[in-house]
Amino acid sequence: MTSPIQTKIDFLVERAKKQNPNINEKKIRAAYECASIAHEGQKRKNGEPYIIHPVSVAEIIVEMGLDTDSICAGLLHDCIEDTEFGYKEIENKFGTSVAELVDGVTRLGMLRYSKEQEQFEDLRKMFLAMAKDIRVILIKLADRLHNARTFQFLPERKQRDKALETMEIYAPIAHRLGMSRIKWELEDLSLKCLDPIGYQEIVEGLEKQSSQHEEFLNHIKECISEKLKEAEIENTISARVKHIYSIYRKMYAQHKTINEIYDICAVRVIVDSVTNCYNVLGYVHDLYKPIPGRFKDYISTPKPNGYQSLHTTVIGREGIPFEIQIRTEEMHKMAEFGVAAHWKYKQGLDKTGNEQAFAWIRQLLEAQQDTEAEDFIKAIKVDLFADEVFVFTPKGDVVNMPAGATPIDLAYAIHSAVGNRMVGAKINGRIAPIDSQLKNGDIVEILTSKETHGPSRNWVKIVKTTEARNKIKQWFKKECREENIEQGKAELDRELKANLMYNGFYENEEIQKNVLQKFTFSSMDELYAAIGYGGITITKVLNKIKDDVMKVRKAQEKVDKLEQPQADKKKGKSESGVMVEGIDNCLVKFARCCTPIPGDDIIGFVTRGYGVSIHRKDCVNVRNHNSKDEENRWIRVWWDEESLDNKKNRFSTGLQISTKSRIGVLSDVAVLLAQAHVNVHELSARDLNDGFGMITAVVDVSGIGQLDNIINRLKKIKGVLDVTRTAEN
Ligand code: MN
Repeated sequence: MTSPIQTKIDFLVERAKKQNPNINEKKIRAAYECASIAHEGQKRKNGEPYIIHPVSVAEIIVEMGLDTDSICAGLLHDCIEDTEFGYKEIENKFGTSVAELVDGVTRLGMLRYSKEQEQFEDLRKMFLAMAKDIRVILIKLADRLHNARTFQFLPERKQRDKALETMEIYAPIAHRLGMSRIKWELEDLSLKCLDPIGYQEIVEGLEKQSSQHEEFLNHIKECISEKLKEAEIENTISARVKHIYSIYRKMYAQHKTINEIYDICAVRVIVDSVTNCYNVLGYVHDLYKPIPGRFKDYISTPKPNGYQSLHTTVIGREGIPFEIQIRTEEMHKMAEFGVAAHWKYKQGLDKTGNEQAFAWIRQLLEAQQDTEAEDFIKAIKVDLFADEVFVFTPKGDVVNMPAGATPIDLAYAIHSAVGNRMVGAKINGRIAPIDSQLKNGDIVEILTSKETHGPSRNWVKIVKTTEARNKIKQWFKKECREENIEQGKAELDRELKANLMYNGFYENEEIQKNVLQKFTFSSMDELYAAIGYGGITITKVLNKIKDDVMKVRKAQEKVDKLEQPQADKKKGKSESGVMVEGIDNCLVKFARCCTPIPGDDIIGFVTRGYGVSIHRKDCVNVRNHNSKDEENRWIRVWWDEESLDNKKNRFSTGLQISTKSRIGVLSDVAVLLAQAHVNVHELSARDLNDGFGMITAVVDVSGIGQLDNIINRLKKIKGVLDVTRTAEN
């Protein structure tokens, strides 16, 4: 004799085959065998063998029309958590896909109900975000639905908690996914636990009126049916009393008793085309008087969850209003099964589908914009809420962090004291680097110690949240004044030297005073300390100093100019055309990397024994100098306008001319340079790939004006794409 469970599983396989002939029966039966062995001897709260639960969950999954792997995962969904049978075994026997589904469902199971209302939205988001695969959500919904059907066997406290969680998290998710059938059942079952008296009141009220309702609805059905027969429109009409929770909500929102709620009845007409939906609407409005303002066209404007239908409320016999929904067969399936309808009716979805295809789901869930029904589900991968990440504390509380957050961010989000004492972190039970990026569903434990010396200065750069950053800075401000001063001074000095303002700043007390005043510091130490702990950015300070130093220098230059005739006589003329700050007539050479010419902004570098080498300020070698040793060797230089007059056309500079390979470009360039009367030292061309070429020229010019003129003329040559100076990138 076959056991009742065996009958159940046979029935399940038959249903699954009916839904989808390609289903893998052998795999499903094997999953059932595994599950029944794994749960052997376990009992549910109501005394039944445990295996009844996974089989019932699988049944719901079959009803949703999901694939073989989802059905198997439904059968095995409680294995990882409750039995010896683990991820590896499932993977070996049924493949990675099933194992990951089961693992996903298990993780969702760790989601804990929290009494704080504010957490509900986070929990809903997390729920969705954690399930990388939307099937995980659907399986979890099936799991919860079956559990909800047996809520009454739980202890009273637990009943309430589970029911609230179902009402606040699971039902809204079902709603957002457009699965109205599951949503209604979850809501009614939860309501029964949460307000048994209110629930009972409605049930009894409906019972009392049931013969009345039945008669009322039958009459309407007949009328509409007759009318549509005349019009020759194929249709299916169903009539029903609305769900208990929707009546309950109406009663409470409108402060009415059940006898005062009239539109309890609803009629649904299903037709074969969108045109006929509107036709039916017309006939219905002929038959019954519509209530103004209650007509809604969700066909032209679908609801955010993809729902489509025409809704209208009309006045029936004896002035009793009722609602009519008109839709096509396809819209009906979407309305009942939502996301799942796509497995049911569009087999063979592309599982590798692109990651972004689910952007729509996010929209849908946030209920901001209407989603085109056709765009519904293109792939299975879900990447919801890409800018947020949801993690668990070891106690099971959910913490919502920005994407990219690290355990340090989490520690400071919990409490400053936790962050300041943090010495490490465990993610999912394993020690992990404290700069790891947290992932959805991670269980993160912050390891703390009283012995620690506090946060590291590095953390400021690692953390993602401003909250953590501020708290770390706060700690440094309080705890390490000496260190901050030292660190801040070093940092400021380094930057001043790099910007050639070290002396300008330290030799001018006025400037120092200005800076302190501007940022309201009472001493230099305070300024250093603030830089040290990050209370003020170095750029801010530097900009202020730069302004002041420049002002002083400009004033100085004016004075210098006035005194110049005399000074020149003393110093003699500079041979090179360049003056070097503080050094008269010193050996100067022009750097080959950037070949500066008069008019360029320049800077000098004191070489070891070869005088001062002059670079353009925008030369890559200037921008890239890093080593400490070099910092003090950069020196201010400027063009000596007077001596330049005698040195016309004597400055060499390099040009790079990128071209389209064309016979004759090189000679055109050569001709142009000759006409411009410039001395050419070097002129060479080479072919690059794909029909492009590069010409290098070194020419003598008097300054930037002449060079710009030449560059402009070169650019006009046919086949020349661009002309740049060397070392310009
Ligand atoms: Mn379960």
